[in-house]
Amino acid sequence: MLKIVTSPDPLLNQVSEPCEIGDKSLKKLAKQMERVMYATDGVGIAAPQVGILKRLIVIDCSPEDERDPLTLVNPEILDTWGDIEVEEEGCLSCPGIRIPIARKAWARVKYFDLAGEEWEIEGDGLVGRCLQHEIDHLNGITLFESATPRERIKALKLYEEARRAGAKPGDTDFEPRVR
Ligand SMILES: [Zn+2]
Repeated sequence: MLKIVTSPDPLLNQVSEPCEIGDKSLKKLAKQMERVMYATDGVGIAAPQVGILKRLIVIDCSPEDERDPLTLVNPEILDTWGDIEVEEEGCLSCPGIRIPIARKAWARVKYFDLAGEEWEIEGDGLVGRCLQHEIDHLNGITLFESATPRERIKALKLYEEARRAGAKPGDTDFEPRVR
């Protein structure tokens, strides 16, 4: 199984390269990413999180007992709108913590599927948030960069503790104590 790259690996702050549309090798990569996402109970994963600097994400925001993965090649945010909502987000690349992140409720995204066909997807709630979170990864932005300066300081401290305590990707409920 592919290994998840965790913060503070500098790879997570690099901008990923566009994929070649219709590239046959992307299908295998997407399958492998899917496997990692399900194994760690994630709702989304971006290629740089498994060490591949390509613009490809896999998401599955369906109810927990259902599987409905969607691969988005070269996803691009066309628009975000609606109220700004603050919700705690976890990330496979910063295991053990959740950070409050402000985002607009709705996102509309253009992407290609693995066959090279162009689509658009839009959504609010978990879908809107997940799309924005995963596309941030393609631009080298992790939760630490998305947080407010005050939340970032708090989160970095919590993350240090979580790392020391051995938090693994997928451990989002781990709650170390700040002293
Ligand atoms: Zn993430």
